[in-house]
Amino acid sequence: MTRERPSRAEAEAAVRTLLAFSGDDPGREELRATPARVVEAFEEYFSGYRREAAELFRDRMPAGPMRGQPVVLRGIDFASHCEHHLAPFFGTAQVGFIAGENLVGLGQLVELVRIYSRRLQIQERLTRQIADALEAHLAPLGVGVLLEATHTCAAVRGPCQPRGRFVTACFRGAFAEDSALRELLRSGTTGSSSPSVVCG
Ligand SMILES: [Zn+2]
Repeated sequence: MTRERPSRAEAEAAVRTLLAFSGDDPGREELRATPARVVEAFEEYFSGYRREAAELFRDRMPAGPMRGQPVVLRGIDFASHCEHHLAPFFGTAQVGFIAGENLVGLGQLVELVRIYSRRLQIQERLTRQIADALEAHLAPLGVGVLLEATHTCAAVRGPCQPRGRFVTACFRGAFAEDSALRELLRSGTTGSSSPSVVCG
């Protein structure tokens, strides 16, 4: 990002403007610390802009005998923000690839989802960016990414459908050709929310 970043004081002033626009009094005692808290929360929500996916793949390992085997991590919790309303959307990601040239650890798959989700997003692009990064850095024989999320902009405004879940997927290579591989991802979208691992 080469764009000049506004100062923290400018960002806090913008929050005070939004508070006043909402109809409240930014000078009210209980709201005094709110702009600073909101700006601090923004630092965390959007920390993905200050990171690159490439940093995760420095320690990739040669696939060796794992070549051709599926590696799937299901139930990765993520939270992001929609670029249309700055509203949170959150859910689970299922990420898999067929080992080609290289492998990465499971922690790196979680971090990959985090780098791209901690930016302003639409869910379709978030899904694609995760797949693109795996393809670019691991040269896999196939990639599958499936995201299921609740969008608060659709839950508390507009259509007001808090139980609606939005599903997006990106299947390439072996995942596009083989429905059994896609099933490996899908079975992660129900049941337990803790990550489950399928290897080999
Ligand atoms: Zn939205």
